[in-house]
Amino acid sequence: MSYRADITIVGAGVIGLAIASQVVGKGREVYLLEKNESFGQEQSTRNSQVIHAGIYYEKDSLKARLCRESNRLLYQICEQNGIAYRKCGKIIVATNDAEVQALEKLYVRGRDNGVPLKMLSRREMGQLEPNLRGMAAFLSPTSGIVDSYGLMCYFLGRARGNGAQIAYKTEVIGIEGVSGGCKVRVRDPGGDFSFMTRVVINCAGLHSHRVAAMAGIDINKASYKQHWYKGEYYSVSGGKNKLINRLIYAVPMGIGVGVHVCFDIDWRLRLGPLSYYVDEISYKVDDSRKKVLLASSIVQALPFIGPSDLDPETSGIMSMLQGKGEGFRDFVIRHEYDRGLPGFISLIGIDSPGLTASPAIAGYVAHLVDEILGSGV
Ligand SMILES: Cc1cc2nc3c(=O)[nH]c(=O)nc-3n(C[C@H](O)[C@H](O)[C@H](O)COP(=O)(O)OP(=O)(O)OC[C@H]3O[C@@H](n4cnc5c(N)ncnc54)[C@H](O)[C@@H]3O)c2cc1C
Repeated sequence: MSYRADITIVGAGVIGLAIASQVVGKGREVYLLEKNESFGQEQSTRNSQVIHAGIYYEKDSLKARLCRESNRLLYQICEQNGIAYRKCGKIIVATNDAEVQALEKLYVRGRDNGVPLKMLSRREMGQLEPNLRGMAAFLSPTSGIVDSYGLMCYFLGRARGNGAQIAYKTEVIGIEGVSGGCKVRVRDPGGDFSFMTRVVINCAGLHSHRVAAMAGIDINKASYKQHWYKGEYYSVSGGKNKLINRLIYAVPMGIGVGVHVCFDIDWRLRLGPLSYYVDEISYKVDDSRKKVLLASSIVQALPFIGPSDLDPETSGIMSMLQGKGEGFRDFVIRHEYDRGLPGFISLIGIDSPGLTASPAIAGYVAHLVDEILGSGV
């Protein structure tokens, strides 16, 4: 063992890349280690690409704060750096009495979180979205979409440009807290080796609870056990993309933000995610679940979508702290000094709105790093 880095980041998803772009500089040796052949191959490119406004999350939670802060930041970053985005707004729509009640509560929560929202009359709904059907709805004008790959390329370029090094096909397989930081064991195509680093930032997404366990954290005691929540998307064909003007969401009646209609930068429509917990990582879309989607509230709100318009497209798996039947869980972003790991920072349960919140999460982590290393290092 010989090399000593200042900062080692585990995982090159949008979070690891955003963090690398913020902590680099000040003469620091920064390494970003990624087990896959390239960056962003897991959650960060398998999502809805929605820029959330901060509506859904408990007041004063990290999710609410960092999402709201990032909503503004992300539009700025996109505008200034030529990253494709659309500030198209979104409508959340209720199609029955129970959903109307839930919609009203959601509206209050969003307003409490400081998100600009507008309750729509039937007439306003018809003017904005003539093809939408529902009993009640509100508009979130600051929601939008971003090209997540373009965003990651921007973070990567900034990190590299300022001296960070990225190693692909390099898996972290062991971490040990030692005096002055951590000893990190990695496996790359050339074999296994170890090095010393003053700071480790664990943003390993679906595997970050495992990386925490590697470092000796009791993940049951710490409540770090992540669940995997798979979401399947269907493409909507037949020129139906001309029939809506903004993102349309059903009222969430369970976990997550609910099924929605979203589109990418090229205005290709997708319906989903149809979500359920899984024990293994497979991105195959189970076509037999299409009937569940067809019976869902979002299809009732958009009656122009018929069975023949829907084709299985893609899926993503989210790292969630919230298990089946459990309540809201916030992002965990924590310096683990009191667990005998000075210099080790955990990011656990970075589920939605992680893509949106990535710039603000990076700022939050950069502050923790400055506390550990001193802002001049
Ligand atoms: C279906 C779905 C829809 C979503 N929709 C939205 C949305 O519309 N808007 C929004 O804001 N958010 C959304 N999200 C959430 C968002 O995508 C995630 O919060 C975000 O991508 C998390 O990024 P990450 O970098 O933490 O994880 P990841 O992108 O999963 O990156 C983690 C990286 O760590 C690497 N890694 C793991 N273990 C190791 C190891 N031991 N050694 C080295 N490398 C390792 C992995 O290979 C991976 O590349 C959605 C997520 C899903 C799944």
